[in-house]
Amino acid sequence: MELFKSMDTSGKEAKGEQQSGDVEKVKCLIIGSGPAGYTAAIYAARANLNPVLYEGLQPGGQLTTTTEVENYPGYPEGVTGPVMMEDLKKQAGRFGTDVRWGLATSVDFSGENHMVVIDNKTTIKAETVIIATGATAKYLGIEAEKKYAGGGVSACATCDGFFYKGKDVAVVGGGDTAAEEALYLAGLCRKVYVIVRKTFMRASKVMLYRVEATENIEVLYEHNTKDLFGENGVEGAILLKKMGTPEETEVRISIDGFFLAIGHTPNSRIFSDYLKTDEVGYIQTEAPSTKTNVNGVFACGDVMDSHYRQAVTAAGSGCKAAIDAERYLGEKKR
Ligand code: NDP
Repeated sequence: MELFKSMDTSGKEAKGEQQSGDVEKVKCLIIGSGPAGYTAAIYAARANLNPVLYEGLQPGGQLTTTTEVENYPGYPEGVTGPVMMEDLKKQAGRFGTDVRWGLATSVDFSGENHMVVIDNKTTIKAETVIIATGATAKYLGIEAEKKYAGGGVSACATCDGFFYKGKDVAVVGGGDTAAEEALYLAGLCRKVYVIVRKTFMRASKVMLYRVEATENIEVLYEHNTKDLFGENGVEGAILLKKMGTPEETEVRISIDGFFLAIGHTPNSRIFSDYLKTDEVGYIQTEAPSTKTNVNGVFACGDVMDSHYRQAVTAAGSGCKAAIDAERYLGEKKR
């Protein structure tokens, strides 16, 4: 890779600290600061790997956009997402994790040591890399999503559904996530609309069957969301039926919650030249480990998990990644 041609890669040991030139050598580099990244940091720091963690674009990850987290074990009264992430950060710091501002902008995983460039300027040469860059929920891109963020608009039914108990909500999307979220919400809410832009849902047959068999779910096929309205939070949605056709009509539904389920984008783009991913971009790991196809590079949390996407499962895989990195380094020494 052109980028690294002029760098100092002579391998001078510098005990995990700044080296001459622009290259810093570390034993364990963690990229990402959600539950996966911080849990990896806690374990790596306690195993004397002197981890350096870069927080990324959204320090604290997706949970910092959630209000109350009630399903993370150990918080009987619940906790807000930002507070929980601060707690995790403090816990990682307590054991010596070097937590830094910065975004990994490119990588070169072609050599024995792994080169990671931060903010297009600082280069880190890492013996092990733990990727915990998460995934980003897709939004429709309408203004109302920003206006009602945290006030009726959510991209996670498992996280926020409870707040809509007994109320009416809508889920947008026609895939397995939308079906799953609708079924979850149907157990809590009075009525669940599923807004599907096509004439069919692409969800798997079994999920579709469950959706259709659930009395309080109504699927609105061939509907697109135009806008949301409400004085104090979401009170309804304006939909367009058969959008863009001569039969286009405007439909209004009354809802208190609007859930996006139109997919997630795993934040794996900068690794894609080196790491195997599935067709969507989720990094593939060698289950049950967190090993990727590159020795010494591990992936944990939502960037490799399209199925569970929970804070607690991300934290669990962060723990596994640190243990895998520690064992990898131990075996290398022998
Ligand atoms: P998908 O990409 O499968 O589905 C996204 C859905 O959102 C599609 O119906 C798509 O519509 C719709 N959509 C996308 N953009 C828009 C838009 N701008 N406006 C309206 N609708 C839109 O994502 P999922 O998250 O559902 O699933 C991702 C992967 O994870 C899949 O492989 C799925 O099978 C898997 N999964 C499996 C689960 C399980 O096994 N229990 C649970 C959850 C996910 P259209 O169809 O028109 O393109």
